[in-house]
Amino acid sequence: MIIEMRKGAQKSEIRQVVARIRELDMEAQLNEGSEKTVIAVLGSNTGEVDTQIFEVLPGVEKVVRIMKPYKLPSRDFKKENTIVKVNGVEIGGKEVVVMAGPCAVETEEQVISTAKLVKSQGAKILRGGAYKPSTSPFGFRGLREEGLKILAKAKQETGLPVITEVLDPRDVGIVAQYADILQIGTRNAQNFPLLEEVGKTKLPVLLKRGLSATIEEWLQAADYILRLRENGPQLILCERGIRTFSNATRFTLDISAVPVIKGLSHLPVIVDPSHAAGHWKLVPDLAKAGVAVGAAGLLIEVHPNPKKALKDGPQSLTFSDFSRLMSELKVIAKAVGREM
Ligand code: PEP
Ligand code: MN
Repeated sequence: MIIEMRKGAQKSEIRQVVARIRELDMEAQLNEGSEKTVIAVLGSNTGEVDTQIFEVLPGVEKVVRIMKPYKLPSRDFKKENTIVKVNGVEIGGKEVVVMAGPCAVETEEQVISTAKLVKSQGAKILRGGAYKPSTSPFGFRGLREEGLKILAKAKQETGLPVITEVLDPRDVGIVAQYADILQIGTRNAQNFPLLEEVGKTKLPVLLKRGLSATIEEWLQAADYILRLRENGPQLILCERGIRTFSNATRFTLDISAVPVIKGLSHLPVIVDPSHAAGHWKLVPDLAKAGVAVGAAGLLIEVHPNPKKALKDGPQSLTFSDFSRLMSELKVIAKAVGREM
C-alpha cells in the first residue's frame, strides 16, 4: 500500500500517518520527493487493512494498493530516477559509469597496474573480488582481508572508489570497512540473510540478477535491501546474463532487462558483459549493446595478463582491448545522448 501526501503536506501530518502505520504493526518508508512525500506501508498484513484508515488522516491525498509483488524499488513508490552517489561519482545520471578491474584480487602489482590503466581510460570505479564465489570447492576463493587491503592501496594510489563482493553475512562488517560499494553476486542474489545484512549498512549496494531469477524475483530481492535502508535507495541493479537453453555463451545477456527495469523501477541498472559472455572476444559487442540500450553503466573484467588469471581469465580484457573498447563506447554514448 502506498500513501501519497498532498503537495505541501505538513511534517506533523506525515508524522501522524507514520505513527498510525506503526500502531497497526506495520512499517513505513518515506520517499520525500521534490513534489510530495510518498509513504510505503510495509508488512505482511497490508492486504487486510482498509485504505480508509489512512484516507481520513489530514494531509493524505490518496491511498493506493500496490498489486506488484515488490514495493520500494517500484516506480509507484518513487517516480524520479534514483542516482547513486559514490565519492562524487553519480550512477543513474547522464554519465555512463564504467566499473572495471580484475575478477579476483591476486597481487598488489596486478591490482594497482590495472587500476591505473582503467582510470587513465575513463573508468570511474575499480572492481576486484577479495572474497570469491567458486562453483567448485577446489577453485580460487580469494585473498579475503589481504585482498581488501590491496584494494584499499589501489584506491589510495588512484583515487578510484572500490566495488567488491561480499559472500557471507558474517563478512559484511569487514568488507564494509574497505568497500565503497558492496557487491552481491548472482549466486547470492536470493540469500536473504545476506541481503538484510548489507541493507543495514550505509554503503551503496550493487545487486546482480540471480542467474535464474525473473525480473520480479530480482526486484523482490532489492526490496529486502531497501526495506532496511536508512539513507535512501542507494542500490544499483546489474544484469549479468541468465541461464537459458543457449550454450554458445557462458550465460545469455538479457539486454531487454534494461529497458524493462527502467520502466518498472527507479533504480539504476548496469550491464556486466564479461560474465554474460564468458569470452573476451564477445565482451566489446555486449558492452556496446548495454550502452545503446540505456544502461547506467558497465562492469567489465580487465587483467594485465588474462592467460595467467586465477579466475575468469577467458573473459577478461587485456589493457589494450579495454582501452580500444573505451574509445569505441564513447561514440555510442554520445549517439544516445549520454556522456562518458
Ligand atoms: C564477479 O563479478 O566476479 C562475479 C563473481 O560475478 P557473478 O556473481 O555475476 O558471477
Ligand atoms: Mn568474475
